[in-house]
Amino acid sequence: MRQSKLFTKTQKTVSAGETSKNAQLLTRGGFIYKNSAGIYTYLPLGWRVIEKLSNIIREEMNAIGSVEMFMPALVSKEYLQATDRWDKGVGFKVVSQTDLDKLQAPIRQLADKLQEEYVLGWTHEEVITVIASNYVNSYRDLPFFTYQIQTKFRNEKRPKSGLLRGREFMMKDLYSFHTDQKDLECFYEVVKFAYLRIFERCGLEALYTLAAGGDFTEDYTHEFQVLAEVGEDSILYCNKCKYAENKEVSKLKTGDKCKECNGKMQSANSIEVGNIFPLGTKYSKALNLKYKDEDGNEKQVVMGSYGIGLGRLMATIVEKYNDDKGIIWPSSVAPFGMHLLSLDKNKDADKIYQTLIEKGVQVLYDDRDVSVGEKFADADLIGISMRAVVSEKSLKKGGVEIKMRDSDKEEIIKIDDLSK
Ligand SMILES: [Zn+2]
Repeated sequence: MRQSKLFTKTQKTVSAGETSKNAQLLTRGGFIYKNSAGIYTYLPLGWRVIEKLSNIIREEMNAIGSVEMFMPALVSKEYLQATDRWDKGVGFKVVSQTDLDKLQAPIRQLADKLQEEYVLGWTHEEVITVIASNYVNSYRDLPFFTYQIQTKFRNEKRPKSGLLRGREFMMKDLYSFHTDQKDLECFYEVVKFAYLRIFERCGLEALYTLAAGGDFTEDYTHEFQVLAEVGEDSILYCNKCKYAENKEVSKLKTGDKCKECNGKMQSANSIEVGNIFPLGTKYSKALNLKYKDEDGNEKQVVMGSYGIGLGRLMATIVEKYNDDKGIIWPSSVAPFGMHLLSLDKNKDADKIYQTLIEKGVQVLYDDRDVSVGEKFADADLIGISMRAVVSEKSLKKGGVEIKMRDSDKEEIIKIDDLSK
């Protein structure tokens, strides 16, 4: 992509309201735009990062045998009433068109008669359970696993910390359906390792952390926590084996002996980047999802649900990987594989760009008519792992000057070797 075609620009400053590092750097770099409190647009650069994250997640979800689908964001009242989650105050409720039409009459008389009919979904256990009940008859139909990557909504009273806590956010939610608890527990472990692979591929070390059930289940659940000062969660974790518990449920204290080894527990702030819930039969009971076992007896389907917030994942990566000049993306999630800078408007830079494109390299090509200083500063702020500079000087030295974002070392590489 030619940088001259990007309609976004980098910014030196952001509004004083953006106090978190991720929102500051992502806004300054032209990755996101804040539309309202807790509501952000992913600009072209930001959307490319989201696509990289989505692809990593898709690959790992497909590898464990789950299949992708897409459910509606508008969730009808009847779904959430069945599980007592309609009045939890979590979602944004939506009034039906019929009732909106009535607003033409004096609002005062009708305000208390407005019928809220839908909620903008913050999770989809109910919806997928009802869908599943249409297809599951016998034990032969189980187990199965399905996921979606979709926008979710939460009526956060005070959204904060940029993409870490928003009112609208992208989620990957996976649901699993089993004949019994044991089968669920097996799959739970499979997802655990898939999640650890996802976070590792995104450059993050996530700790598998015992946590409370929240709205989802009365049972224990697990979170994936990344240590970070800005994090809203507090966890205790072992300095040796990384066994971890959320302080909300932990009976341990700092300095206590680890349950798993002879290490010591220490406390830290952390960001929850994923969570997994053994739902059991809570939703299948409420929404009547049954199957017939081998003897023809009717049983409740056992379920699990598993989430990863994509915007939050992106924000966590930025919180972990930055310096005073900007973001330092791990190459696996950077918006482009290479940032090509043309310093002297030479024709060779155009040719190099074309060749790289033909060879399938994802390049951001800074062909803008701006100062050298501005190009370097923007490259550091945007934070693509590899910078390649084409100038009269570099060409005289025999090629293109390469520098990694996380290093000060520069080296000349021959133009023919660049695509490698
Ligand atoms: Zn330990």
